[in-house]
Amino acid sequence: RRPSAEELLEGLNDPQRRAVVHAGTPLLVVAGAGSGKTRVLTRRIAWLINERDAHPGSILAITFTNKAAAEMRERVSELVGNRAKIMWVSTFHSSCVRILRKEADKLGFKSSFTIYDAADSKRLMTLVCKEQDLDTKRFAPRAVLNWVSNAKNELLDPEDAAAAAQNVQEQTYAAAYADYQRRLRAANAMDFDDLIMSVVHLFRAHPEVRESWRRRFRHVLVDEYQDTNHAQYALVHELCGTNPEEAGPDAIAPAELMVVGDADQSIYAFRGASIRNIMDFELDFPDAETILLEQNYRSTQTILTAANSVISRNDSRKPKNLWSDAGQGEQIVGYVGDDEHDEARFVAEEVDRLTDAGDARAADVAVFYRTNAQSRVFEEVFIRVGLPYRVVGGVRFYERREVKDALAYLRALVNPADEVSLRRVLNVPKRGIGDRAEACVAALAEQERITFWQALQRAQEAPGIATRSLRNIQGFVAVLEELQQMVEAGERVDVVLEATLARSGYLAELEASDDPQDETRVENLGELVAVAREFADDPVLGPSADPVDGEADEAAAPQPGLTDFLERVALVADADQIPDAPDAEPGEQPAPGVVTLMTLHTAKGLEFPVVFLTGLEDGIFPHQRALGDKPELEEERRLAYVGLTRAQQRLYVSRAVVRSAWGAPSHNPASRFVDELPVDLVQWRRTAAEQTVWSRPAATWGSDGGRRSGGGGAPDGSFGRGLSTSTQKRFGAAAARADAAARATKGRDVPSLEAGDRVQHDSFGLGTVVSTEGAGDKAVASIDFGSDGVKRLLLRYAPVEKL
Ligand code: ATP
Ligand code: MG
Repeated sequence: RRPSAEELLEGLNDPQRRAVVHAGTPLLVVAGAGSGKTRVLTRRIAWLINERDAHPGSILAITFTNKAAAEMRERVSELVGNRAKIMWVSTFHSSCVRILRKEADKLGFKSSFTIYDAADSKRLMTLVCKEQDLDTKRFAPRAVLNWVSNAKNELLDPEDAAAAAQNVQEQTYAAAYADYQRRLRAANAMDFDDLIMSVVHLFRAHPEVRESWRRRFRHVLVDEYQDTNHAQYALVHELCGTNPEEAGPDAIAPAELMVVGDADQSIYAFRGASIRNIMDFELDFPDAETILLEQNYRSTQTILTAANSVISRNDSRKPKNLWSDAGQGEQIVGYVGDDEHDEARFVAEEVDRLTDAGDARAADVAVFYRTNAQSRVFEEVFIRVGLPYRVVGGVRFYERREVKDALAYLRALVNPADEVSLRRVLNVPKRGIGDRAEACVAALAEQERITFWQALQRAQEAPGIATRSLRNIQGFVAVLEELQQMVEAGERVDVVLEATLARSGYLAELEASDDPQDETRVENLGELVAVAREFADDPVLGPSADPVDGEADEAAAPQPGLTDFLERVALVADADQIPDAPDAEPGEQPAPGVVTLMTLHTAKGLEFPVVFLTGLEDGIFPHQRALGDKPELEEERRLAYVGLTRAQQRLYVSRAVVRSAWGAPSHNPASRFVDELPVDLVQWRRTAAEQTVWSRPAATWGSDGGRRSGGGGAPDGSFGRGLSTSTQKRFGAAAARADAAARATKGRDVPSLEAGDRVQHDSFGLGTVVSTEGAGDKAVASIDFGSDGVKRLLLRYAPVEKL
């Protein structure tokens, strides 16, 4: 049933309604946190489709994370039905990938180009620096990369950057940039910053291409506009055709543009974001309509007053008047820990108390900190007391070695020109292709002007290559070619992945290892296969749910391919790892879920009933770097504002008197942001004056349970009380993981073996079974492979065949 116009406007106040129905001119919605900007943007999309008959394919909505995009798409679908699913709702990066997949040839790329993430880029830049003989003290690859990233965000290509270089240092950077780009291109790869810059350059170099995308997108909507950088800003302008000089007689009318944002929440200046983009919107678009929202629907008045009080100390801002009618609510709770362990224990204990009292579920709680490294202590303490949690960001699943290796294999399959990926897995697992052999192949590639992959295929021509290496290379090439055929035959992503792990011998090597870490690695790979299977099963969530142009849009999406999968994985942003709150069935107790740990940067746009803002110390937050620098300090203060305004009902602020940084304990003064909170709003559970033991070394702290703070803290002995269910939950999660790993191998028969059987193993060759143990999925066999030795293999993974 189609909702009426009135229904689409339900639950919106007057200015919000005006923003939803506004038509004709560019629209800017500026407002403080929690005032419904994102809600308005979402409703407006539904309105455009239903009331203004916009084709869903003509709408481009930009969000800050892929998760936010999925939520928005979901929300719009609830309002106007499934056809909304084909809209482009995505991050800048994802949108650009989709455009580039169609237009890559115009830039001299193949449409199967690879996207390099930060680690890949660093590998490549390290190679460049080495090749150019740069002194790594003066030119650390990371620093060079940073410079390159800034150049790209400013839309400078290597020639522009070289022309703009002011001194020898910058000339060196620019030279490295040129070489880096050359290699990316040779590998048919782009890094993150390229994605956006390339589209802008494409549009500028090929007006007809730009014109076709302008015809397509009639509505462009951007959330979190305050965090756009110059390249993103330029992209919006290219799409919306805002330059009257270039509008010829047949130019189509510009797309309708709506941007929403809050200058007080701009926290990405270090990535080139510019507050000017929002400040100057009215200059850029003289006919723009601006709508202000002033009512906050998220937080209690107490939380809001606190946040307003902090942000009002920033000079370079327009004053705002944000209010809430949610009532005063609870007081803010403050706590000063003896050290960071004590601070973390306070948090754990408080979560325990809130959940016991039925005031909150674990899933309602978020713990924020300034830097990723601060999560470790919380993790330690939470594990000890059995409090289930989830860290967003930090060492991410997709950054783990084994996951990256597996993905490198897949990338090499779809894009053999991707030299970085290919070389990464060339001798992983060890298959007797050493550095010398690799160098011979690289030399052949250079000499024949062919790709590294082509050189591998013609390795027999490589001068000086050893016979043994040659044989191993040919084996490797054969495996890859065989897997490539699977990909070309349109095999499911999860099937290809499983085959890759088996045929490459990668799993076998992990299985045969005694290192307990390798066991975890096997689990993680099982998890990756599960991710791939989900992806193959549910194309709607995948990028390839993406419309083909025009009417074909509504046709069923084809089975998403490996390229789509890799793209999806490459673009997973930190905030995308937050688990969805499980929905409770009517009448059922809601699931308790897990506490979320994340950095303040990741928290943007989100909301939680209970928020702990931790590490409020000068030198931690605000960050050391910002202490003597006004613009940086103001950015830190905006970050504090973001943190405070995530809280809906309860807000905690805490710090530690002593904190061990790099092993040496430091005494940090209270954060100035704490002093900026109105005194009467904070109830201190424990203050610095109540600290009893100042000089106790932090190291003895964890085991010293008995001493607890004032304010009714329980003695440590009773601390774990009532947590047994959460402990079970944790084990439950581990079991679920193991289950996922087991499911990952479903569909493959486990060979039943007994001592004396002869077998063929994909990498170790012929062998004889020495003994077996366990049954079914757990069956393990010790197999003698002659010169390769005796290996213990988990049969459900091992690529062995009974002869
Ligand atoms: P942020 O600046 O943090 O991104 P925002 O301005 O985008 O915040 P939303 O996330 O859209 O704010 O809204 C904050 C909360 O208020 C959400 O839970 C939203 O559903 C709710 N909300 C927004 N407008 C209204 C309204 N008119 N009536 C009731 N609730 C509303
Ligand atoms: Mg928002």
